[in-house]
Amino acid sequence: MKLHLHIEDKANWLSKKVPCIIAGPCSVESEEQVFQTVQEIAKSGKVSIIRGGIWKPRTRPNAFEGVGEKGLKWLKQAGLTVGLPIATEVANAEHVEACLKNNIDILWIGARTTVNPFSVQEIADALKGVDIPVFIKNPITPDINLWVGALERINAVGITKLAAIHRGFSSFEKSIYRNAPMWEIPIELKLMCPEIPIFCDPSHISGDKDLIPLVAQKALDLEMDGLMIESHINPLVAKSDAEQQLNPSELINLLNQLIIREKNSQSEDFINQLEQLRAVIDELDGELINKFASRMNIIEKIGTYKSQNNVTILQVERWEKILKNRSFLAKKVGLSDEFIKKMLELIHQESIRVQTNIMNKPKN
Ligand code: PEP
Ligand code: MN
Repeated sequence: MKLHLHIEDKANWLSKKVPCIIAGPCSVESEEQVFQTVQEIAKSGKVSIIRGGIWKPRTRPNAFEGVGEKGLKWLKQAGLTVGLPIATEVANAEHVEACLKNNIDILWIGARTTVNPFSVQEIADALKGVDIPVFIKNPITPDINLWVGALERINAVGITKLAAIHRGFSSFEKSIYRNAPMWEIPIELKLMCPEIPIFCDPSHISGDKDLIPLVAQKALDLEMDGLMIESHINPLVAKSDAEQQLNPSELINLLNQLIIREKNSQSEDFINQLEQLRAVIDELDGELINKFASRMNIIEKIGTYKSQNNVTILQVERWEKILKNRSFLAKKVGLSDEFIKKMLELIHQESIRVQTNIMNKPKN
């Protein structure tokens, strides 16, 4: 599905610096904290936008919920002293009004708001007739339609300076990430709407500052337009997200280490080699598809036998044996266990679907 948004070309309004770096504290805590952080991070010369949270959506009550409207003045002032635009999160119409009153340059909608169409619509209504860039974080649940829906609602009131921020997704599964990146989702968004700038927020994906460089580099290698990274003058005493905030010198080190790879190479040798390798991939994919078709034919035959003999579709022992054996085979050839398990699960789901159709066919 293609997404039809009326978006202004990013070259007209986004910083020319590539990648576009948005950095600043998770929360604005005090005038000095914002001022010092902003002064230090601006020294890198690589930051294009300053971020800072004023109203903090906390998962559990009784945590620090932000300094409120007075923080907007500190943030704006800090931005002015270094000549950079500032961005903050809005979650309702009141926040939007306060931001507009204080000349905030860019607004973003947080993950807990994108998930709720009522809130997004309230923000959209408050933005009618206003020309301000709005960044929309992905919803906490891995549902691309909620993300797209929020972009459409904000775009529908005339906001054309739009961007998306990928900050990962909540998951019950244990993982090294605070929020599972599920890279396929922002990639799908890019396919649906290639003109929309997409930033990555490696801070909220990682939840731990040691993981940030890896996630940030991956985002750039997936051709994301920029990064939103949390930085605090002294993360040890940060009132929110302390574990994932970088101090300004850590941020600058990270920015200096990031590798900006080219989209393409002009080298003829490279182009030839790539073409040859891609031809092999095309052939292998053709073979894989034929093999899947042969496998499905057998599955259909088995389904027919089972149906004729009144035997159930799912046999847990057989499925367990397959998983164990294929995992062993995959390991021998250096394939990741997770990949093989996911692939088998997909194949198994499809086999069950095919056999269910056979079972449900009326018998002659
Ligand atoms: C934040 O940026 O500090 C924040 C609350 O982010 P998210 O909406 O991604 O959780
Ligand atoms: Mn945060």
